[in-house]
Amino acid sequence: MFYMNSSDSGLSGTMDLGFGYLFCNFAAIFMKSIQDIFPFLPVPKRVVITMHQKPDADAMGSSLGLYHFLKQFGHRVSIISPTNWADWLSWMKDCDRVMDYELNAAKADQVLDDAEWIFCMDFNDLVRTKKMASKLASLSCTKILIDHHQQPATESFSYGISDTSKSSTCEMVYDLICNAGHGNKIDLPVAECLYAGTMADTGSFRFPSATASVHRMVADLKDRGLDHTRIHENLFDNFLENRLRFTGHVLANRLDIYYEYNTALIAVPWKDLVKFQIKTGDTEGLVNYPLSIQGIKLAALIIDRDEEIKCSFRSKGNFDVNIFARTYFDGGGHINAAGGRSKDSLDHTIQRFLKAMKENASQLQ
Ligand code: 5GP
Ligand code: MN
Repeated sequence: MFYMNSSDSGLSGTMDLGFGYLFCNFAAIFMKSIQDIFPFLPVPKRVVITMHQKPDADAMGSSLGLYHFLKQFGHRVSIISPTNWADWLSWMKDCDRVMDYELNAAKADQVLDDAEWIFCMDFNDLVRTKKMASKLASLSCTKILIDHHQQPATESFSYGISDTSKSSTCEMVYDLICNAGHGNKIDLPVAECLYAGTMADTGSFRFPSATASVHRMVADLKDRGLDHTRIHENLFDNFLENRLRFTGHVLANRLDIYYEYNTALIAVPWKDLVKFQIKTGDTEGLVNYPLSIQGIKLAALIIDRDEEIKCSFRSKGNFDVNIFARTYFDGGGHINAAGGRSKDSLDHTIQRFLKAMKENASQLQ
């Protein structure tokens, strides 16, 4: 009964608008606590783990960390990414078992249809799973959210935890494992995946989100044998020459600074991505460079990816880029790191960004 959601309960929305209908909608609005699944964690099930599109180290690390944990109970676990991901994540154990929904939707749909539990990692809204979103929405199995982004669409999930004070979804998986009393199941693959995502999302433990509990977690992972230097090298010293040359080109030729607004903008045309053979993940971290300039409070990266214009925003201090991305670029994220998109041309998107910057002058100056 614990893991029933509104659809499992049999009180379907097709009935008369009576008490049952009200009950089922009431139940659908309130995501139940993650603790309610703890008693069922050791009971083998058909489980799917999924994450946001273009997964980063936190999305992939939390998914694979949870995978290595759940496998120890005998669950049948599949991992599906909505899209492809960067090569520099492939060192994570069993990353090669992750299915790419865009490459194999029919097979992935079968796995999803068969699932009893679906864990949704590191995203706050089904739309973040791109082409998978409608499939996920149509399924009546138990969906469990684990995420640290703002304004979660909790009505889409049966159980879960959304905690914006957490550094990373990886830290939340660590908490889940420990709070459920299974700390002894944190083996090396679990530790490596969880450390990677936490390190990435805290900017190598420099952001305010790197709390004392994050450092206590790292100490515990070290006690369990984690080689953190190797993980750092896997994530940060694992690129090809073209990526470094692309970074140099972009910083030299595509960066504009608007000192009056303490803002920096990097705008990258599609032809640059083609020329430098840029692949998924190669632009990760680029948006952070301008924040190293004295006084810069807002850094933006606008990339023409051909299929769409992708925007990334980073800020220092109180300027809330989650609100900025939501207001102007159909996106969201966290107070100091957010993203969005635009359907306009690159030039038009740049103009829209500059207009938005000026509208926020009082907060930026
Ligand atoms: P990035 O700039 O690295 O793509 O994303 C920064 C942060 O904002 C990440 O936490 C990411 O999950 C979130 N984010 C990026 N793009 C979007 C978007 O389109 N919508 C929402 N809600 N969040 C986004
Ligand atoms: Mn994250």
